[in-house]
Amino acid sequence: MPGLWKLPGIVQLWPMTEIVKDFPPNIDAIREVLPISGREIFAYGNVIYNPSGAVLGPELIAHERVHFRQQGRRPKRWWKKFLKSAEFRLEQELEAHREEYRVFCQTHRDRNAQSGFLRLIARRLAAPMYGGLITASEAAKEIGA
Ligand SMILES: [Zn+2]
Repeated sequence: MPGLWKLPGIVQLWPMTEIVKDFPPNIDAIREVLPISGREIFAYGNVIYNPSGAVLGPELIAHERVHFRQQGRRPKRWWKKFLKSAEFRLEQELEAHREEYRVFCQTHRDRNAQSGFLRLIARRLAAPMYGGLITASEAAKEIGA
């Protein structure tokens, strides 16, 4: 298809979004701050790093695209601040989680599915992976607001 291309290890799933099956360039700095299992995905610049190779739904890609916009042309600088400041991390992640929830709700009109998804991503945001930023119930309130 015109405009779509493939390179070894790179899969184009969404216009303008490269997904690479590897860790991001700053993985060592990330590991110093956050507990990384290898199942996470990472936005760096305009690339999604997906080391486990898991299939990514449109709502997760929308979440990472918020981080692309937040990082602008300075992904290295953004990541430094993200790792250093829990307050900044929470603010940036709330914005990304709200977009993830919004995209999910666009494609899933069932209210029970929506509230189940909200609880799921609220628990994920509350998990140690993000450094224990917020409780799950507070996260659900903030994401769903
Ligand atoms: Zn995020």
